[in-house]
Amino acid sequence: MSKQEDIFKKVVSHAKEYGFIFPSSEVYDGLSAVYDYGQNGAELKNNIKQYWWKAMVQLNENIVGIDAAILMHPTVWKASGHVDAFNDPLIDNKDSKKRFRADVLIEDYCAKLEDKVQKEIEKAEKRFGETFDKNQFETTNPRVLEYREKQKNILSRMAKSLENENLADIKSLIEELEIADPDTGSKNWTDVRQFNLMFGTKLGASAENATEIYLRPETAQGIFVNFSNVQKTSRHKLPFGIAQIGKAFRNEIVARQFIFRMREFEQMEMQFFVPPGTELGFYEMWKEKRMNWHLALGLGAENYKFHNHEKLAHYANAAADIEFKFPFGFKELEGIHSRTDFDLSAHEKYSGRKFQYFDPEKNENYVPYVVETSIGLDRMFLAIFSHCLKDEILEDGSERTVLSLPPALAPVKAAILPLVKKDGLPEMAEKIFNDLKYDFNLIFEEKDSIGKRYRRQDAIGTPFCITIDHDSLADFSVTLRERDSMKQERVEISKLRNIIDEKTNFRNLLSRL
Ligand code: ATP
Repeated sequence: MSKQEDIFKKVVSHAKEYGFIFPSSEVYDGLSAVYDYGQNGAELKNNIKQYWWKAMVQLNENIVGIDAAILMHPTVWKASGHVDAFNDPLIDNKDSKKRFRADVLIEDYCAKLEDKVQKEIEKAEKRFGETFDKNQFETTNPRVLEYREKQKNILSRMAKSLENENLADIKSLIEELEIADPDTGSKNWTDVRQFNLMFGTKLGASAENATEIYLRPETAQGIFVNFSNVQKTSRHKLPFGIAQIGKAFRNEIVARQFIFRMREFEQMEMQFFVPPGTELGFYEMWKEKRMNWHLALGLGAENYKFHNHEKLAHYANAAADIEFKFPFGFKELEGIHSRTDFDLSAHEKYSGRKFQYFDPEKNENYVPYVVETSIGLDRMFLAIFSHCLKDEILEDGSERTVLSLPPALAPVKAAILPLVKKDGLPEMAEKIFNDLKYDFNLIFEEKDSIGKRYRRQDAIGTPFCITIDHDSLADFSVTLRERDSMKQERVEISKLRNIIDEKTNFRNLLSRL
């Protein structure tokens, strides 16, 4: 097993063992690509939501938040293009009976070519040492050039064939490249077919009157159809934004990467409405703002990169992803798209209503353009959780597992630990708990040795442990242990609130934006 797979396995098992994420309906052997958040997972997820919501709605005077319904009129999805075009190309392996996304098989093939490029670079780096010029090597080495040229040709042929709905050519490409089922090595493929990712359901009591509807595959449409409602009632002038956090559902063809690709997930989206012609400036602004939001968490700038889309969807005039270094490599975490007036104009056409804005400065009506930022909450959870989970060897040679979460996001801010279960220590600890509970989410634990209790808190990312001992009864002080440094200091009980607040408050994070 590769090191990457090991790390990922550890992430999945730690998430389960410590009450972050459980497979849905586990007692019935689970439901594929659907997960439940446990007691610690729900807290961490809520804190990520708060960080996003505050950064969007609270810090920006011209952004407001809404909460639209999951079920929408079916024509919404006709207008948005999802009924006709929200498809992925799928292919089955006849021997293993496994289903794959045809485009992903081809992309993975190209990623392998890129791995070969990286190996060539590493080899040359070792050979040439200090004199190595990476840029020159990449632009002149014949092998590197050949691998890169091959990738480019494959990806552009795939893009063209997908655009022209030429699924036969996608199959030919898979056969020409001799792509095999990664698990079994079989090259016995079916034809490629398009598969719509929307979940359908029925609205209404009786079979005759029931209407076919969909579970929303993205939250954005709830914002678009409410554009005029929000603009008129909030009285915001352009540019202004509408933000939303909510569930989305996609019947993903392949979902084997834990909470990276789920069938039920949550999105945090913001649509920013701007005058036509100004959208590319706002697009750059939002790229920068969103990257800063990620960087403020302190997980390391080297773990993020932009991937600018060369092939754009028909409605977009610029698009980029923020990619994060997950345990299985750099993958999309967030999308930033300049969507022109595509959605609002489509809803004008299908609904017969106006989606226009009266611009008092220009004294004219127009359909606004939209720049959107769209991030998966669960994917963000996975990014943070997998990055922060560490095994450390301590000075005395022992090991600990620590989840070094940004303190504002930690599920529990402090653990209150009476050293022993007698002599009035639990009573004093309870008093401290009751005093601090209005400000922080706390845990009270009196079982097991203090060392074991510390380790349990490290494993769920609790920034502080507060130990009440016999001296506390006399000097009204406690031992405060900090998670990352493991330093312990004696602190007066009356100072606890300020110390915990300073480290764990959202202000810390938000003021870096
Ligand atoms: P991908 O290419 O990975 O399928 P996408 O480009 O279809 O993603 P968007 O439609 O742009 O994704 O959705 C915005 C964000 O929602 C993504 O950046 C991702 O974080 C999240 N997201 C999309 N699909 C899923 C899913 N099945 N499970 C979890 N998060 C998802």
